[in-house]
Amino acid sequence: MSRILITGGAGFIGSHLADRFLADGHEVICVDNLITGDVANIAHIKDKRFTFIDYDVTNFLYVDGPLDCILHFASPASPIDYLELPIQTLKVGSLGTHKALGLAKAKGARFLLASTSEVYGDPLIHPQTEDYWGNVNPIGPRGVYDEAKRFSEAMTMAYHRYHGVETRIVRIFNTYGERMRIRDGRAVPNFMCQALKGEDLTVYGDGSQTRSFCYVSDEVDGISRLLFSDVDTPVNIGNPAEMTVLGMAEAIIKVTGSKSRIVFKPLPEDDPKVRQPDITKARAILGWEPKVGLEEGLARTLDYFKMKLGIK
Ligand code: UDP
Repeated sequence: MSRILITGGAGFIGSHLADRFLADGHEVICVDNLITGDVANIAHIKDKRFTFIDYDVTNFLYVDGPLDCILHFASPASPIDYLELPIQTLKVGSLGTHKALGLAKAKGARFLLASTSEVYGDPLIHPQTEDYWGNVNPIGPRGVYDEAKRFSEAMTMAYHRYHGVETRIVRIFNTYGERMRIRDGRAVPNFMCQALKGEDLTVYGDGSQTRSFCYVSDEVDGISRLLFSDVDTPVNIGNPAEMTVLGMAEAIIKVTGSKSRIVFKPLPEDDPKVRQPDITKARAILGWEPKVGLEEGLARTLDYFKMKLGIK
């Protein structure tokens, strides 16, 4: 049994990780300042092996007792969040990563960084392999997230090389599922809530940009395998099933049976044109690949949003 601390543990992926680790018999401490996380995501956990601490991890971070693993998941992660919270996003990626790594060093704990496909920016190679260095605009609106995550990868490798901290880096690609917020702003929750409420689905640009969407249980399984592996270089975890954003809007109209129409809105600045993970590395060294297809994942997500919106 390990004692595991998750920053951002009340967030979308963080709270699913908490569930997974508790189910696997571990003890979980979740630290979150709730700026984008929500206690509703962890309210169901009654386990004595679970602790919640309301705290901003950009400040000095300490917990009593031993720690085996620290997973740094705290960060605004939706483009609308990091446009609204640019300084917090930069601080949690830089200062927060530093504090979490400092705690890992002090406790002799393994550290796993939640990195992102955004480190590849608007990629010039496709699909993206882990050895691609990316195409990021440092001063664009998305730079606050992309560069914070690139800095956090550099900081993680520095602690690994200079302090001997055992580290893992997961590059998370678009993930969807239960516990995304109604006003999250990302494509799946936006389209699903719009379709359920009979509103127009807002496709940005002409919808020909692509993404590859991974259902949350697959993402969490990949992260868990990486944590307990011995791989200290970055690993892409995402579903390689690539589709256009317009295709996703159509899929959501279909799964909801909605009569909503699709409308086109301006494309946000620096919106990546394509994105697809190359998961050769995860397949080979973690024995991982996604299992949940789009239809099943969207059906599960639909039940959640219906419940949240009070729709029978
Ligand atoms: N998008 C869209 N309509 C929305 C929300 C997002 O067309 O209501 C597009 C967005 O411009 C991007 C893609 O969907 O091309 C995925 O956006 P999301 O915010 O989910 O995450 P990203 O992959 O950009 O980080």
